[in-house]
Amino acid sequence: MIDDQTEVFVLTGAGISAESGIATFRDANGLWENHRVEAVASPEGFAADPAVVWRFYAQRRAQALTVAPNPAHRALAELEARLGDRLFLCTQNVDGLHEAAGSTRVTHMHGELMKTRCSVCDRPPFDDTRHDFAELPRCACGALQRPHIVWFGEVPFELHTIKRRVQRAAVFVCVGSSGVVYPAAGLVGEMTYRRQMGEPVRSVYVGLERPANADEFDEVVLGKAGEVLPAWLAAQAG
Ligand code: NAD
Repeated sequence: MIDDQTEVFVLTGAGISAESGIATFRDANGLWENHRVEAVASPEGFAADPAVVWRFYAQRRAQALTVAPNPAHRALAELEARLGDRLFLCTQNVDGLHEAAGSTRVTHMHGELMKTRCSVCDRPPFDDTRHDFAELPRCACGALQRPHIVWFGEVPFELHTIKRRVQRAAVFVCVGSSGVVYPAAGLVGEMTYRRQMGEPVRSVYVGLERPANADEFDEVVLGKAGEVLPAWLAAQAG
């Protein structure tokens, strides 16, 4: 039951956006839209060939401008409207579809596709929908700009706040995440620990198949997020 006192933590992964037409990469044998993940999503890949990396993210931006949120994103926006700040929505996705569905408080632990920052200096990230570069974008300091994305080997954003909010949630819901990318995949372990300590907390996974960390969840609901999540949330309404 999720009543008007319940604190809820929701973690979303690439699977929630699959029905909107954005490819997950686990489903493509480690390739992400035909690219080796390390080549386009690591600091080493950017250092080796920034043009390939920018081309990849420019394509992702162009694609993201054509897709729309699905019922799973909308169900979470409706949950925020009901719970307000008692919902903490943390996404591993960079696509912006939660905001497009109406969510206003979204923590982007892996960054945002439509933002850019300097690869060297500390000028803040800025909104950027450019996806057709004549040449590689540069900062006023002269260094290359890069997508505001957390790549493999980099530390996710907002980890302190994320851990604090998992520690006070009564219900943890994970949607469409294969459970192999850490530290996100380890967050449910906090709920397991608290349950073992006698706290009345519970966790549920919603997605197409059992994730690698399925044993950590109290409940696993299999199915497409756009079909299963709205129904599951409706059944929890107190
Ligand atoms: P993942 O690609 O590793 O796993 C996706 C999971 O979603 C799989 O377990 C799959 O079974 C499930 N799934 C597929 N279709 C589904 C559907 N219709 N409904 C519910 N579940 C479905 O994703 P991840 O665990 O989020 O890790 C991938 C990393 O790649 C993340 O860190 C993320 O930043 C990045 N990424 C982001 C996007 C995006 O922004 N949309 C897309 C691809 C990858």
